[in-house]
Amino acid sequence: MPFCSTPDVPLTAEEVARLSALPDAAHEVKPVLACELESGHGGPHWAQAQAEDRGSDSITNWWLRWGDSTGLREWAHDDTCRADSTADDPDHDICLLPAGHAGSHSWAI
Ligand SMILES: [Zn+2]
Ligand SMILES: [Zn+2]
Repeated sequence: MPFCSTPDVPLTAEEVARLSALPDAAHEVKPVLACELESGHGGPHWAQAQAEDRGSDSITNWWLRWGDSTGLREWAHDDTCRADSTADDPDHDICLLPAGHAGSHSWAI
């Protein structure tokens, strides 16, 4: 299964600066985000821009969620999908897409 091929979405300089300055930021913020869901999925597109990892499983995710024609473009803090692939594929771990996401788990894409 291929990944969703919707056009990438740029972040504003303010968004990149804000997400980069968060305490406990876990990632380097990319200025352009690509949808992480499976090709043909329903509902809005999702991409993770940042996570605040305070340890002990205390994590705040920063997902950008957007729509093709709806004008939707918003930040969401949904939990991570914890579905575990090890029964199917011991080389992979947990899914890490947003919990309840559309389409296949990340290791099946
Ligand atoms: Zn998508
Ligand atoms: Zn999943």
